[in-house]
Amino acid sequence: MLKNFLNPTTYYLGLFHIVPLAAFFLPISLIDWIVCISLYFIRIFFIGAGYHRYFAHKTYKTSRLVQFILAFCSQTAMQGGVVWWASHHRKHHINSDTIKDVHSPKQKGLFFAHIGWLMEGKCSKTDKAVVKDLTKYPELMFLDKLHMLPGIILATGLYLYGGLSMLIVGFFLSTLLVLHGTWTINSLMHTWGVQRYKTTDTSRNNLILAIITMGEGWHNNHHHYQNSTRQGFFWYEFDPTFYILKTLSYTKIIWKLNPVPQKVKDNF
Ligand SMILES: [Zn+2]
Ligand SMILES: [Zn+2]
Repeated sequence: MLKNFLNPTTYYLGLFHIVPLAAFFLPISLIDWIVCISLYFIRIFFIGAGYHRYFAHKTYKTSRLVQFILAFCSQTAMQGGVVWWASHHRKHHINSDTIKDVHSPKQKGLFFAHIGWLMEGKCSKTDKAVVKDLTKYPELMFLDKLHMLPGIILATGLYLYGGLSMLIVGFFLSTLLVLHGTWTINSLMHTWGVQRYKTTDTSRNNLILAIITMGEGWHNNHHHYQNSTRQGFFWYEFDPTFYILKTLSYTKIIWKLNPVPQKVKDNF
């Protein structure tokens, strides 16, 4: 069992769990904590708005330049290339909670759905057949190949600006929190919460998870209808990623945000 987890991905994830411990031995300033929390929410936004709602689901449109910027900013979260991320996520929707779903808590338990599927190292390849709309862009394939580059540039900038303490807390600890926050989508959002819609999977809606992921916690809504930019279908479902995207649409940086059709909302 342990042998299955000894691969480069496990060492990579292990690094992000061990390095933040250095914070106990360094003088940490208030600005380091502000950067840590700010970069948590900024990068959680790009995971929802970039990796998920744009690259995986294409729920809105934008220019090729903004598409590249979205990919770059998403990848500062160190969660792989946008093409890789989108291919795995699209397959999650195709195979939700079946034996073919690589991170289903129903099939293999909570730990495996959260992090174990990555540690197995079997998911490093991209199924290009499901992301043909993305592979046609050479600049996205370049970023996908050098997927750590945006994160390394961010880390270097933080080190040069704020020294070792900012690197440890502002980058490594913040990235660790972003990783776990994102992974709740695969683990807790398929186990903890309510199911408004009768989908064929175990997806749930959960306000607490919606807060920590800036709106991704309405996962049962999302499995019910993947095409909308908005995941909180009702006004009382907190979805700040959507609010920001809606605001950006007024500036014409992005456009054609997909709405939630009324019949989809009502189809309990
Ligand atoms: Zn999705
Ligand atoms: Zn899901």
